[in-house]
Amino acid sequence: MRKSICLAAILIAAASGVAAAQSSRNSPATTGTVPTGRLGMQASEPSWSGRSGASGDPRMSAAAIRAAAANFHRCIDALWPPAARRHISRATFGRYTRGLTPDLRIMDLLDNQPEFTKPIWDYLDVLVNEERIENGRALLQKYRAAFDAAERTYGVDRHIIAAIWGVESDYGTQGGDRPVLRSTATLACVGRRQKYFRDEFIATLQILQHRDVRPEKLIGSWAGAFGPTQFMPTAFLRYAVDFDRDGRRDVVDSVPDLIASTANNLRKDGWVSGKTWGYEVVVPANFNFMLASHHRTMPLREWQRLGLMRPHGKPFPRPGDEAYLLVPAGVQGPGFLMLHNFRAIMRYNPAEAYALAIGHLADRLAGGGPFAQAWPRYEQVLSRSERLELQQRLARRGYDVGEPDGRLGAKTRAAIRQFQARNGKVPDGFASMVVLKQLRAR
Ligand code: CA
Repeated sequence: MRKSICLAAILIAAASGVAAAQSSRNSPATTGTVPTGRLGMQASEPSWSGRSGASGDPRMSAAAIRAAAANFHRCIDALWPPAARRHISRATFGRYTRGLTPDLRIMDLLDNQPEFTKPIWDYLDVLVNEERIENGRALLQKYRAAFDAAERTYGVDRHIIAAIWGVESDYGTQGGDRPVLRSTATLACVGRRQKYFRDEFIATLQILQHRDVRPEKLIGSWAGAFGPTQFMPTAFLRYAVDFDRDGRRDVVDSVPDLIASTANNLRKDGWVSGKTWGYEVVVPANFNFMLASHHRTMPLREWQRLGLMRPHGKPFPRPGDEAYLLVPAGVQGPGFLMLHNFRAIMRYNPAEAYALAIGHLADRLAGGGPFAQAWPRYEQVLSRSERLELQQRLARRGYDVGEPDGRLGAKTRAAIRQFQARNGKVPDGFASMVVLKQLRAR
């Protein structure tokens, strides 16, 4: 059991590319470590490389990082007035900032842009497998009363909550091992995300002052996400609830608080009670893939009219529901019609692979089967430099890919589709080696 958890952590750490880098939660994928429950640096933890960040941002140069680190205490002191405005007492501020030092290793992690990233099916293999399904079902059984109560109060399907728990931290077994206060303080004063993290740092002080979570349990990912469902400190302040009524909103040690807070988060992000997140669909080969865009929603019955079907001819229970078509691996892989609730999951974790894993794991926990269609596992996945080259070549031909950054988002996908359509190919928007070779030709 322990061994496989570690293996999954390593696999995910190796895979922490596009999806993890885009995740605002910076789920455990970015640290890949098993929590030890101890504060401070781990003996095995490498220290800061001393190198400039790959982003090229001037605040990430080695000299700028050194200068910001030298100024760390002055920077923290300058955060006292905004903290006071948020009702942090002088005593709290003093107690938690005294002796605080920056964790510069985080600068390496902030700008980590691995050359090789895994395709979506590898993420899904790690995040949704027999062990995680079995453990999730055991959890649903064990905490049935808490799930019952939270489902009644918030109207969010218990399987989604359990799936978030499973995907974000493998049910609390992987959640990062860094003190949230030190991580958010570091990021608030060093590097390219200081403005964003000042809020997170002050929110962390608010949590500590209110004694919602025990200080020694306020540990998490390098970006400050903590607890089994990886709350950021500001998200905690917005969504956490004291469901067991002991006066503390403890999303780390109280299962009722954890389940209810996560449900409340999804509900406030727009979860519609009694509905699902989406359906796997079979897309006919001659389909107009230009319609596969999250900007294009239509009722399920319209998609059906265009030839999209659920595998094995299963009907759509509510054909009037609006959905958009996602084809994450192109014409060779499965399609998905995404309902409103998928957008709520995407707000929870904006990485597409993670959101799909959460939806799929929820279905599996509820007794559903694996996807009916195979992924194109034979496809050669582009490396970071190849993705960058693809974007640059598209830009040179006049396609709008935004700022080429080696990350394949919706804009790049749309540009690939246009290029494919103009060149008589199936415009599925999938960044394959075939597309890159076509762009290189001439
Ligand atoms: Ca509580």
